[in-house]
Amino acid sequence: MNEVHRIDLPRIVLVGRGVLESLGEICTELGLHRSLIVTGRKTYDIAGERSQVILEKAGIHADVTYVNKADLATVENVRKEAVEGNIDTVVGVGGGRTIDVAKLSAFKSGTFFISVPTTASHDGIASSLASIKGLNKPYSMKANSPIAVLADSRIIGESPYRFTASGCGDVLSKAVSVRDWRLAHKETGEYYGEYAGSLALMSSSLVMRNARLIDKRLEEGYRTLLEALVSCGVAMSIAGSSRPCSGSEHMFSHTLDMIAPGVALHGEQCGVGTIMMANLHGLDWQAIIKSLQVIGAPTTAQELGVSRDILVEALVKARDIRPERYTILNKVNLSRKSAEALAEECGVI
Ligand SMILES: [Zn+2]
Repeated sequence: MNEVHRIDLPRIVLVGRGVLESLGEICTELGLHRSLIVTGRKTYDIAGERSQVILEKAGIHADVTYVNKADLATVENVRKEAVEGNIDTVVGVGGGRTIDVAKLSAFKSGTFFISVPTTASHDGIASSLASIKGLNKPYSMKANSPIAVLADSRIIGESPYRFTASGCGDVLSKAVSVRDWRLAHKETGEYYGEYAGSLALMSSSLVMRNARLIDKRLEEGYRTLLEALVSCGVAMSIAGSSRPCSGSEHMFSHTLDMIAPGVALHGEQCGVGTIMMANLHGLDWQAIIKSLQVIGAPTTAQELGVSRDILVEALVKARDIRPERYTILNKVNLSRKSAEALAEECGVI
């Protein structure tokens, strides 16, 4: 083999109550001096302002910039600010969208990126991939892994529970995405990384097993979810792509984003997609429903807020949203009728 497999991982990951307080020490330890905090108006009050105080106390310069969109123009503005301010680290403090903007801006400005999520809504908190609008594709693009992740379970615990439930849906979806990957390996000879696949699969089963602790809003539950989300990010870094964490169920979600934008959260859509794709794979789809129900995540089109027609359309079109990614949908080839039957059998419509 003369092909080099390069793996970039976060250097420091802190998960637990109050870990935000360590932000200054972490930056000092990493030899960072000038930071730009990327945050939203609301998340500034939740953790952005506190981050600034902590950094300044540690003698680290900390500018703040507010973002409210995850599009290329916003990324470009932040990149400029980072370059003009002679910044060495972009600190993303906020939800999924803010983290994505911070991650890609850091990549484009050649600075380090520190991830401080205020919600646990999806697995982008520790990954090297960013979802940005205006890229002409609904899925994510490559950036760098965060050099540090500070996932403070106290902050996550205070965020609206719906985001947490959505994060669980995103993690549970790995039960399907890893099977899609294995299927592609078998059918097309695509590279399959056993280690990355196992890590993603383990995250999914741990969240399933700890569903009740998460629903009870217990520290142990939050910790399991956060560690699972970080592990999924690591699995993608090891694989060098989103393959272990994004299969047919994600393609269903991406299709919904196109035909019914903004209706439900990413992880909520992935959760419902997982039920139906698990059925196609011959997996225990009822167990997926049960876990999602315990967690309090949507399991039906109605709970997602989409009509029967839209849901079926998304199922039929999902295969074409990412034609280069081989999944169960290439094998089954759903027609309108068979898609409808599948969604009915799973109780989704
Ligand atoms: Zn996802």
